[in-house]
Amino acid sequence: MERKVSPEFIQTSLAASLTLGFQSGSFHRNAKLKGLNLLLHYEEGCLGKCHFCGLSRSRREGPRGKTFIRVDWPLYPLDEIIEMTKAKDQIQRVCLSMITHPKAPEDALYVIERLRGETDLPISVLISPTLIRHDDSLVAMKKAGADRVGIAIDAATPELFDRLRGTGVGGPHQWNHYWEVTRLAVSVFGRFYVGIHLIVGLGETEKEMVDAIQRGQELGAYTHLFSFFPEKGSPMEKHPSPPLGQYRRIQLARWIINESLGSACKMTFDENGRLIDFGMEIESLIQTGEPFMTSGCPGRNGKVACNRPYGNERPSGPIRNFPFMPEAADIEEIRGQIGI
Ligand code: SF4
Repeated sequence: MERKVSPEFIQTSLAASLTLGFQSGSFHRNAKLKGLNLLLHYEEGCLGKCHFCGLSRSRREGPRGKTFIRVDWPLYPLDEIIEMTKAKDQIQRVCLSMITHPKAPEDALYVIERLRGETDLPISVLISPTLIRHDDSLVAMKKAGADRVGIAIDAATPELFDRLRGTGVGGPHQWNHYWEVTRLAVSVFGRFYVGIHLIVGLGETEKEMVDAIQRGQELGAYTHLFSFFPEKGSPMEKHPSPPLGQYRRIQLARWIINESLGSACKMTFDENGRLIDFGMEIESLIQTGEPFMTSGCPGRNGKVACNRPYGNERPSGPIRNFPFMPEAADIEEIRGQIGI
């Protein structure tokens, strides 16, 4: 029987599967997917054991039915994905996620080369730092045709990282190494051609999250923000999503830092680490709505292409990362949620 594994087969997000026409359906409020997310696939799965992830080896369900950033990831032949992508003008970027598996670096290069040769889309790679020991593999990805990389640091503090991804779960990942690979990636791809993923709501304070965003900014890496969603069957299935007010304040702080409008040291926090003052006038920023849109790698027009519709919440809402520009009624709600 044929083994359906990478690089010949690859997973797409459910959103990508719908957009490419593998399945039928449309998105709530007519959101349009602009970034095509692909994920390498192996029978053994990911060797990481991250406590919050749907791909984790410590998850109770079998490999089938696993989810990653909240959505299902159906499996298709790479050839078909490439063919169907060519016919979809709305797609502005493709992102290949490695997983922590020994074959991932070599297969990532193969997939990047195929995408580069057969489509005209810019390519991001969500790399697995644990598999990267020198800059050679990053240089090889750049040569193969990737122009950006993402690094899923996810947890905002070394303690949380170690507890949820490292020794606390018998997992292979190390906080210092992730930041070292972020530095290496910036040296290979260039300042702000690297993005770090951070997940709000794993147990950090708002101050700790803002400090992690600022650390990335100083290294030359933008932050791509996620809101924790409890994956069914994962060890954190009972851990709640962060309160909306917390998420909105962090979205606004990220916008201020990544747009170089202000910085963490100008912001004020209360004794519980809650953000109480952004150190600047925020009303006009809130009214633009942009700080609350999905943060991710840009397409050719410089606007966010990786908009991950409903990757962090149920379509029934409330929407955390807006995959489109929030409307006046959305902004009014957001204004109330900020709590300042
Ligand atoms: S922001 Fe999106 S495109 Fe960029 S690395 Fe992360 S998942 Fe990939």
